[in-house]
Amino acid sequence: MTKFKPNGFVVFANEYKRTHNVQYYTFRELLDVISPFWNELPETDKERYKDKAKANAKRLEFKRTRETSNNEEVLEKRLKLVDVEADKKQRIEDLVYTASDLGELDDKIFYFVNISTFFEDLNDVYPAEFALAKYSLRKGLIDTLHIKINPGELPLGASYPALEKANKTHKYLLPNVKEGSNYDYGESSYLLILMSILDFIDPIEDAPIDDLPLFFTEGSSVNDYNKLISVQKAFVRIFEKAGEYDIASDLKLYSVVDLFYYLNEVSNTSVVYPEDKNEKFSSLTHADESFRRADRLFGYLAKGCDFHEENDVLRSCCLSRVRSYGYILSKYCVNSVKYPLIEGKHFPKDFHIEP
Ligand SMILES: [Zn+2]
Repeated sequence: MTKFKPNGFVVFANEYKRTHNVQYYTFRELLDVISPFWNELPETDKERYKDKAKANAKRLEFKRTRETSNNEEVLEKRLKLVDVEADKKQRIEDLVYTASDLGELDDKIFYFVNISTFFEDLNDVYPAEFALAKYSLRKGLIDTLHIKINPGELPLGASYPALEKANKTHKYLLPNVKEGSNYDYGESSYLLILMSILDFIDPIEDAPIDDLPLFFTEGSSVNDYNKLISVQKAFVRIFEKAGEYDIASDLKLYSVVDLFYYLNEVSNTSVVYPEDKNEKFSSLTHADESFRRADRLFGYLAKGCDFHEENDVLRSCCLSRVRSYGYILSKYCVNSVKYPLIEGKHFPKDFHIEP
């Protein structure tokens, strides 16, 4: 498993929670209260918290290896940490088959991510919207996280291409135009954005977070790989702008289409009656075509954020996108004989799935 350096901030936040009367604060309120203190902290103090976090992570790691040594051994053998792009497909195949062999595939959590941007160049990325979905085959879409991002002033010369892009896709107002309206420009604190993401993956009580899960987004080796690269770049930038360079360097995005292909393959192996089988794909290209065909349907039915629902541009809504991935996977990869499909979780509300 990929490990990332634990966040000293989380330890600091927990210490603050213990010593102040803030137990009824929401996560957001807590961050608002604590972040300024953290930012003012001298570097040497921050280092102290980071060291504490590292020690906690070691303790947890020790506990976990003791609890799951058998599983870990199997995983060790099969999950050779491969960082090269070309090996990502292999890693997904290994992940799916290992989880299936261990009987853990149905409850394995997958994270789907999508990020849209105002503008990107060689030096920087200016994100506009972020969405994350938590999914398992048994439960379908378990939870989602949606953040509208205000990346601050765009660089000189970016306004025109950014405006053109916004008009064609997400329809957000540029962060540069900022006069007297009550338009919501989104969250501008990258620290807050990062903490919301980490909290979504693993609630603050369980700090420190020490396992970085795999994230999946659209684009695959057979089609539109640039889309995947673009989302990965934006994701990494969000972590970097929040000051978490160590985590950023560990972040890897995988193709949800590759995942779709292998999950479909595995879903058919345990089915007894041929009529219960899902349509099986002969190749990754075939899987990619089916994925896009299903996306033309679910992409319009998957609920988006309020703004994109109102402006009728669900195709460009990150939240609608990650939900669509969940519905597509459910249609082709869930063994519906074993688990009844759940409305709103495996398929959109009010959608009638053929028996
Ligand atoms: Zn949206």
